[in-house]
Amino acid sequence: MTNEILIKIRDLSVTYQTRIGPVSAVDHVSFDIYKGEILGLVGESGCGKSTLGKALLRLIDPPGEISSGKIIFDDEDIMEYDEKQLHDFRGRRVSMIFQDPMTSLNPVQRIDDHLIETIQVHEKQTKKESALNRARDMIKRLGIGADRMISYPHQLSGGMRQRVMTGIGLILNADLIVADEATTSLDVIVEAKLADQLREIREEFKISLLMITHNIALIAEMADRIAVMYAGHMVEIGDIFDVFKKPMHPYTQGLLASIPNIRFNANEELYKMLGEPPNLTRPPKGCRFHPRCPKVMPICSKIEPSFIEVESNRFIHCWLYQEHPEKMADKG
Ligand code: SF4
Repeated sequence: MTNEILIKIRDLSVTYQTRIGPVSAVDHVSFDIYKGEILGLVGESGCGKSTLGKALLRLIDPPGEISSGKIIFDDEDIMEYDEKQLHDFRGRRVSMIFQDPMTSLNPVQRIDDHLIETIQVHEKQTKKESALNRARDMIKRLGIGADRMISYPHQLSGGMRQRVMTGIGLILNADLIVADEATTSLDVIVEAKLADQLREIREEFKISLLMITHNIALIAEMADRIAVMYAGHMVEIGDIFDVFKKPMHPYTQGLLASIPNIRFNANEELYKMLGEPPNLTRPPKGCRFHPRCPKVMPICSKIEPSFIEVESNRFIHCWLYQEHPEKMADKG
């Protein structure tokens, strides 16, 4: 990981129009991804992490839309790109590994054709034979035998299909790979192997990875930094060791406390976070976590805190770490 920023996301919001009103699935989110880093993005189902990942490639379809914000890549705001620029950007600069290979792979297309087509759609000058050689190398590197190149998706195991999807995401040597629950359908052994392969590829090609997952153990093992989302807001970002050692946001504290660790005593009750995530058609006023927060203060239900840097490279969205009128009044 370097200190050079690859992509800057500023004030990004994604809104879905539903019959019962607009849903702000991602609400004014700002953060950076550095060159060569693995950033783990975690949070409960429905917190907006997959929507955020898709928004980075402008892959939000109606009834959703990116309702505000900028996505700055190489000093250019991709929100201003036309269709041709977007086509060049997707795959070559930023690529995505989707979570469900059965719906993403074409059932009547062989594995070699999937990879060759991906290369030739973006690199018109590349001959079929050279694309085939690259496809073979990638598949081999992901631990699939060359004889499987002529298989159809249904002839492969779930783990192999997911590795093919990973190969499609990596084949164009994009600068940033967004991996959305890329290891969820795998058993633990295959998952660990794929995680190793992704790490090796990151080292070799100096790519950046945004790993979207609910698997915090995997993030602990792989990521350089962790970003935590709650109800469409980014609530904490920091170095992986710092956040695991001293989580600062009450939601991150609850999330980490609810994972059993090796020292967990089976007679103790595991920490349970109270309540449910909010209905995003009517999110709570102020901090969206306040109805569940064990440290809630009167200000929390009135005004939303800002997402600010509270320590070097540590960003938090919580009134506990910010001055506010009620705190100032207490100080007298
Ligand atoms: Fe809890 Fe208030 Fe911080 Fe929200 S702002 S996480 S309610 S302390």
